[in-house]
Amino acid sequence: MLQALYQQLRLLPSTAPLPALFIGHGSPMNAITRNTYTESWANLGRALPRPAAILCISAHWMTDGHTAVLTALKPKTIHDFYGFPPALNEKQYPAPGAPDKAVQTQQMVKSPEIRASDDWGFDHGTWSILCSMYPDASVPVYQLSIDMQKNAAEHLALAKQLKPLREQGVLIVGSGNIVHNLGKMHGDENAEPFDWTQSFDRNVKTALNHNDSTGLLVNEHDSLTQLAHPTLDHYYPLLYTQGVRDNNDELFHFNETFMARAISMRSVVITR
Ligand code: ZN
Repeated sequence: MLQALYQQLRLLPSTAPLPALFIGHGSPMNAITRNTYTESWANLGRALPRPAAILCISAHWMTDGHTAVLTALKPKTIHDFYGFPPALNEKQYPAPGAPDKAVQTQQMVKSPEIRASDDWGFDHGTWSILCSMYPDASVPVYQLSIDMQKNAAEHLALAKQLKPLREQGVLIVGSGNIVHNLGKMHGDENAEPFDWTQSFDRNVKTALNHNDSTGLLVNEHDSLTQLAHPTLDHYYPLLYTQGVRDNNDELFHFNETFMARAISMRSVVITR
């Protein structure tokens, strides 16, 4: 199944808009572990047309009341986690930034106003997946922050304005998790998911399969949403992938599995 997707990506004509991705990133340990997730990320990196730059919308860059774009020339690797082995804390992802694309993105978005920022770097939502996808760190990377004051509809409206970037060689990657409740996680990462984990994940899959953007506009007051996402930072990146989707695109699911009862690793590729 995935082999067919990789083959389709390898055969994409150079004139086609670039695909866009949503990656369920899971544990930061994926940055230094080999497993089925990291293998799929590596395979994707090999199959995709080489991007001019990567724009990552990561769950781990949250801003309060504004949206920022990373304009740093040489972004630092941010180790935004605690209690992990030294090997993870020492890991670096030295990809160059993409300040030209960042400024272009800032100008392209009419509303809201995007602020330039060079005091962020690559957070682990970005580098923990890119170190498998592009291990030589040669593709320039920049990030867009998630304004936690915005609701789902506002994130989707912003995301739609990013769609032309796909025609300009920018690989848009949303990085989060479709279900993400750290407080309900189980010590055994292979433990069966909760019913609500599966329900929320299934609802999202159905909405994606029907290209139903409205169905993806979750309400933070809904009880199932509150279980799946006590805070919505890991959900909003999905709306950026949906926002740059074209009606002619095909959508593929991969990594349709759960971790530790309360995390969905579901990931998607959209491609012409
Ligand atoms: Zn995360």
